[in-house]
Amino acid sequence: MEKRLLLTPGPTMVPPEVAAAEAQPIIHHRAPEFIPILDRVQEGLQYLFQTKNPVVVLASSGTGAMEAALTGVCSPGEKAITVEGGKFGGRWGEIADAYGIKKVPVDIEWGEAVQPEKIKELLEQNPETKAVCITQCETSTGVLTDVKAIADVVSKTDALLLVDAVSSLGAEEMRTDEWNVDVVVTGSQKAIMLPPGLAFVCVNQRAQERIQKSTSPGYYFSLKTYLKSLAKSSTPYTPAVSLILALDKALEMIKKEGIENIWARHARLSRAIQAGCKAIGLELFSKQPSHVVTPIKVPEGVDGAAIPKILRDELGVTIAGGQAHLKGKIFRIATLGYAADFDVTTGICALEIALRKLGYKFDEGAGIKAALKALT
Ligand code: PMP
Repeated sequence: MEKRLLLTPGPTMVPPEVAAAEAQPIIHHRAPEFIPILDRVQEGLQYLFQTKNPVVVLASSGTGAMEAALTGVCSPGEKAITVEGGKFGGRWGEIADAYGIKKVPVDIEWGEAVQPEKIKELLEQNPETKAVCITQCETSTGVLTDVKAIADVVSKTDALLLVDAVSSLGAEEMRTDEWNVDVVVTGSQKAIMLPPGLAFVCVNQRAQERIQKSTSPGYYFSLKTYLKSLAKSSTPYTPAVSLILALDKALEMIKKEGIENIWARHARLSRAIQAGCKAIGLELFSKQPSHVVTPIKVPEGVDGAAIPKILRDELGVTIAGGQAHLKGKIFRIATLGYAADFDVTTGICALEIALRKLGYKFDEGAGIKAALKALT
């Protein structure tokens, strides 16, 4: 018998209630019964994003939402500051390149976070900047960016702040309206506890005005079209009906638990993972760690690629390895979305078993003990 546990920063585990909602018979998306569902989902999304502004739902992965957001607010030839401190920050720059948006890349060392002063300085040097693109949790490094502090800087200028919260929305504090964040994007397969396939873009008034003026090419991902339909409780194209039904259930669960309790749960679980790892002599990778994913340095003399492999193939626990130049140098454990206490202890226990097999010397059981202590 195979029992699997998914401790990756996306896709994440889906609650049985959500999977059951997804399996309901298809409703026709133009039928009257679909309208209240779309309205309820919109309300639930606004709660999740902590906003009163519209949240566009796209049938795509998170990258589609990033593309829709950047091309929505910037036209070809306009300038965007793109913070690139990891695999996903780099994606903002790649999208800019693909659409002829002039990027001002900010190279941050992987593992570190961009500081608000740096953004302030760049905006002063480039006053014609139309957008500042950041990543709330850079999933490749586990680093958390201080969105509130950066929003404070950007909202005083004509530039719009675009936040990639694909891995962090619903795990880390995000107060979209209160912090004056113009655009927030996320995906379904992380803290929202859905399968992959939906992406979301929340746009405030400033961003909506800019979207109306954008001359970017593109058709399916044009936010203008989605906003027009959303105002009529509709969608321009066939929505991913089953995923929307699942989303309705997931948002009901989110509302019931309470967004602040969910942020606190993510903090508590990731602190327990960190404590468990430190207790067996492992070192954390991030200088400004998030509660989304915990990247851990592979200890000296241990085969880095073998750690996730043994966990997955022999113990049924999937964690993530390192990406790009961090391949084999770090591994990443996440308790994102549908995760609770015993996911932490099982994960740390499996890690201890794998490390023992790989000949790493440590105080066996110390990781589990420390994780349990952090949980109580
Ligand atoms: N940004 C971040 C921070 C992510 O973690 C991811 C996915 N891991 C993406 C963007 C891209 O999302 P997707 O793979 O859903 O397109």
